[in-house]
Amino acid sequence: MNIYLVGGAVRDKHLGYPYSERDWVVVGARPEEMEAQGFTPVGKDFPVFLHPKTREEYALARTERKTAPGYTGFQFHTAPDVSLEDDLARRDLTINAMAEDRNGNLVDPYGGAKDLASKTLRHVSPAFIEDPVRVLRVARFAARYHHLGFTIAEETLTLMRQMVDSGEVDHLVPERVWKEMEKALGERHPEVFVQSLRDCGALAKILPEVDALFGVPQPEQHHPEIDTGLHCLMVLQQAAVLSAAIPVRFAALVHDLGKGTTPEEEWPRHIGHEQRTLPLLDTLCERIAAPKEHKRLARLVAEYHTHCHRALELKPTTLLKVLKAADAFRKPQQFEGFLLCCEADARGRTGLEQRDYPQADYLRTALRECQSIDNREIAAQGFTGQAFGEALDRERLARLQALKRA
Ligand code: ATP
Ligand code: MG
Repeated sequence: MNIYLVGGAVRDKHLGYPYSERDWVVVGARPEEMEAQGFTPVGKDFPVFLHPKTREEYALARTERKTAPGYTGFQFHTAPDVSLEDDLARRDLTINAMAEDRNGNLVDPYGGAKDLASKTLRHVSPAFIEDPVRVLRVARFAARYHHLGFTIAEETLTLMRQMVDSGEVDHLVPERVWKEMEKALGERHPEVFVQSLRDCGALAKILPEVDALFGVPQPEQHHPEIDTGLHCLMVLQQAAVLSAAIPVRFAALVHDLGKGTTPEEEWPRHIGHEQRTLPLLDTLCERIAAPKEHKRLARLVAEYHTHCHRALELKPTTLLKVLKAADAFRKPQQFEGFLLCCEADARGRTGLEQRDYPQADYLRTALRECQSIDNREIAAQGFTGQAFGEALDRERLARLQALKRA
């Protein structure tokens, strides 16, 4: 049997990009031979094994045949006579379809090295259209390698559009969408993922509430970029600069969904968009199986980001209301995420990318002031139960009043 390093590790090695995971392909072996050598079988649908020592994945070379819509609609074929070239042919992009033998020689039948050099994300074969997950993967790689100058090949984008038009993309299951989306949000330029989905038309299917924001104007005075969709991409980019946390980046992207349903006669103003966002957000989260933590932060940012922008003008009672709504006393970390999203929102505007955002520190101080209250002193005054809560709030308001005057 012959063993080859394949996939992301070969690609990233050649790019000089850090990688942590190595995938291997085994040519000319049967499952029994793998097990005899101590490998543990793990694949449900096709033969994949874990190495007895490294626990890395070793897959028998295979071909596939499309049998039904969706990314599970494949029949796999493995046999000792399936060649390395056969196996590489079923892969999505040429840069992902290179292999390296045990002596470090590159096997590159589909021009991956050339596409790496020209920074092109290009499909391997017309069979690309058989798996809708590839639309998400290509958009994700575009996000990951954007800073290196990579773009999607025009003919690949054409196939992606075809998969949208044919309805193949409709067969994506929520869990799979979230898995790819989560990875994409973790990249350096997550906004390129969203933009790439938009470029091929998939955004209207996967995140229609976000797609609807493009073409919706906002007041130029606060939003020189005018377009709401563009604004949301810029906010996402700013969020990625401010935080590596996926919930923060997700919330940044979806914080303004309600602007997509503002009656046109009210444009470019969007009074009440905060509340209008909430049901749209719930629908979106369900469609892509976004986890609870992400949804909770997104709802919070959607509902209260405009409060945060006005933090320095807020009455102490309103400030306290925001702190409580954000569950800041019990979840200070979530509150910090909220503040970062609001800062990203303030900076995700053309020409305002570097602006100061004193509101965030003001609210951090407000929370700290409230946290520094000694509960024992309130208890010592004889307050219990509901009266205790009221006395605590009176003390909090006194502190917030003092902060406002300072
Ligand atoms: P990452 O760095 O994100 O792990 P990767 O390219 O290694 O990127 P994996 O999901 O680990 O991605 O998959 C390993 C390899 O398997 C890919 O490089 C590609 O060759 C192939 N592959 C994975 N998913 C698909 C798919 N849906 N369609 C075609 N080929 C795929
Ligand atoms: Mg990988």
